[in-house]
Amino acid sequence: MKKILYRLEELYPEMVELRRHFHQHPELSFQEVHTPQKISDYLNNLGIEVKTNFGGNGVVGYIRGGKPGKTVALRADFDALPIQDEKGVPYKSTVPGVMHACGHDAHTTILLAIAKVLSEVKHELKGNVVLIHQFGEEVSPGGAKPMIEAGCLDGVDAIFGTHMWSGVSTGEIYCRSGAMMAGGGVFDLEIIGSGGHGSNPHETIDPITIGTSIVGQLQQIVSRRIDPLQPAVLSVTTFHAGQGYDVIPHSASISGSVRVYDNAVLDSIITHMEKIIAATCEGANAAYKFQFKKGYPPLINHDTETKLLIENAIPIVGKENVKLMQPVMAGEDFAYYLQEVPGTFFFTGSGNEEHGLIVPSHHPKFDIDERSMVIGAKVLLATALTYLNNH
Ligand code: MN
Repeated sequence: MKKILYRLEELYPEMVELRRHFHQHPELSFQEVHTPQKISDYLNNLGIEVKTNFGGNGVVGYIRGGKPGKTVALRADFDALPIQDEKGVPYKSTVPGVMHACGHDAHTTILLAIAKVLSEVKHELKGNVVLIHQFGEEVSPGGAKPMIEAGCLDGVDAIFGTHMWSGVSTGEIYCRSGAMMAGGGVFDLEIIGSGGHGSNPHETIDPITIGTSIVGQLQQIVSRRIDPLQPAVLSVTTFHAGQGYDVIPHSASISGSVRVYDNAVLDSIITHMEKIIAATCEGANAAYKFQFKKGYPPLINHDTETKLLIENAIPIVGKENVKLMQPVMAGEDFAYYLQEVPGTFFFTGSGNEEHGLIVPSHHPKFDIDERSMVIGAKVLLATALTYLNNH
C-alpha cells in the first residue's frame, strides 16, 4: 500500500500540469466538450476501458483487477462556473466569464492520477474500480442522476468521493457519518386576485394582503410543524406586486427556498406549504399557481464506509488532522449515488493561509494549494484499496 500511495507523490508534477490545463480551459455545466475528451484520451492512453457520452457528457473508466473481488466506484466532477477569473496567475482561465472556482479541476486531476496508479498495479488488484467522471454538478438537476440512469453504478458495491475545501488547511480531512450536506428546493407562488381602486378594497381581491398572510404562515411551518431536532430553513426571498399608490394589483409573485437534511422533512414542508396556500387563497376567493422544484437530496454518508475512510486517512494525515465536521448547508449531487450504494463523501482541505489561499469557493479569486491534490488522492485511493482488500 505504501509503495502504491508513494506513486501519487511522484505524479505530483504531472498532476499540477493537468490541473492547470483544466483550470485554463473551464467549461460550463452541460456544455462540456473539451474536458471529457481530454479525460477519455488520458484514460485510453493508459489502456483503460472507457465509455464516453455517458448519460450526457460523462466519462466512465473501468479498471478490472487481476483477482476477483468487489467493485468500488470513485467519482470526480468536472464542470466550471459562470465567473470571471480575477486571479493574477499564469494558469488563470483563458475563457472569459468561465472559471473553475469550485476545485472540480482538482477533483478530475485526482481521479486521473489514481487511474494511472491503478492501471500500473491492476494485475495485483483484488476486484474492480469504476472511475466516474461526472459532468454538470453545479446546476440542478445535475449530471449524477442521468449517469446513474445510464448505468454507471451497475455492479458497484461502494462509492467514494471528495471535494476540495478551501476554508480549511491543506493537510486536513473533514468527514462525517450521516447527513453532511443539505438538500432542498426552490418555490414559485403566484397569487391571482382581482385589481381595483385603492379606495374601494371591498370590490377587489387584494393579492398583497393574501400574500403577506401566506408569508407569515409559512414561517410557522419550521417553528410549529417540524420537529425542533430536525434542521430546516424556509426563506421567502422575493415578493413582487403592484405599481401605483391607488391601484390594488391583480397579482403578486412570491418565491424562496427550502433547505433540509432529511427527505421526509422536505416532503412534510411541501405538504404544509400547499395546505396553507390553498386554504388562504380559497378563503379570500383568490386563485394561485404554486410550483415547488426539488433540488439535490440531502447528502447522507454511510457509517461503515465513513469509518473505513477515517481509518485510512489517519496514517496519511495524522489522527489530529482527521476532523469530524458539522454538516454544511451547501448541496452536492453526490447525494444521488449515496441513495443507490453505500459510500462516503469527504472534504479535502485545500486552503493555505501563508500563501493567501483562503478565498472561498465560487469567488473570482478562488484557488487551491495544489499539494492538497496528493493528499485527497492518497486518502481516496487508500480507502478504495482497503475496501477491496477487506471484502
Ligand atoms: Mn463543487
